[in-house]
Amino acid sequence: MTNYAEVIGHPISHSKSPLIHRFWLNQLGLVGEYQARDILPEHLDGYFRERAADQEWRGCNVTIPHKIAALDHVTDLGDVRSSIGAINTVFRGVNGILVGTNTDAGGFYGPIADLPLAGETAVVIGAGGASRAVLFALGQADIGEVVLLARNVLKAAGLLSHFGLKGRVLPLTARLPDSALLVNASPLGMKGQEPLEIDLTPLPEHAVVYDLVYAPIETALLKQARARELEVVDGLEMLVGQAAIAFELFFGVAPPDDEENALRELLLK
Ligand code: NAP
Repeated sequence: MTNYAEVIGHPISHSKSPLIHRFWLNQLGLVGEYQARDILPEHLDGYFRERAADQEWRGCNVTIPHKIAALDHVTDLGDVRSSIGAINTVFRGVNGILVGTNTDAGGFYGPIADLPLAGETAVVIGAGGASRAVLFALGQADIGEVVLLARNVLKAAGLLSHFGLKGRVLPLTARLPDSALLVNASPLGMKGQEPLEIDLTPLPEHAVVYDLVYAPIETALLKQARARELEVVDGLEMLVGQAAIAFELFFGVAPPDDEENALRELLLK
């Protein structure tokens, strides 16, 4: 019996998940496989029916455009639908039931878990799916105030209320407030997207700048932050973090944590 997991989406060829999970399977010497599957929206129901009956299938990561629709095919034990609103992982729970969860929030939070953020101000750029996972995580971290910079300020204000966060919404062109953490959760600065134009001058010396964008890995935002000698976190850290949580849910063991540099090299090739 060969246990396996997958990543499903449409399109899917760009996904880095197979590289990450296969790397860990190899490092641990586990007998298992991880594949990418291009699944059209109209085939999602059939996909889950088929896989539910296949005991070798340990679960799947879920990406665009299935992150919301997949909720209809799983048990939502953690009430993800009413919080983050989308799942990125399906795994087999007790008695083999298919459980949906979202590992993006944990993947985001891991690299900043040791920061003394309680009571501090964080700035988050963007009000889409990634921003929802970030806001959920910041809410758990007892953050003082969240300043959400977005082009659609009404949508952003709704998000702050949804997560019960204290804070305010500003347009993307606003001057940054004094804050301990700046997170770019928008595609601005990503290859093929518009640049992120932002002045980091108002940030204090202890501020951390976290860019979720990982293509390119060294974004203009991170370069600007390094030039000011601010601490930075790049998008690969969250990408690997969310995958690590999913890997353990699929295969029952945590991935090795002493091979991070080799994995980063592989992902940057
Ligand atoms: P999304 O759901 O499409 O949301 C994108 C957000 O950015 C929306 O609020 C959108 O505004 C805003 N936006 C898009 N283009 C804009 C523009 N030209 N000017 C101003 N605002 C703009 O995307 P997502 O899933 O949240 O992903 C956002 C970024 O995070 C992507 O680069 C993605 O690759 C990255 N990401 C990284 C990880 C990781 O593991 N590192 C995980 C998830 C996502 P509207 O609300 O007005 O549409």
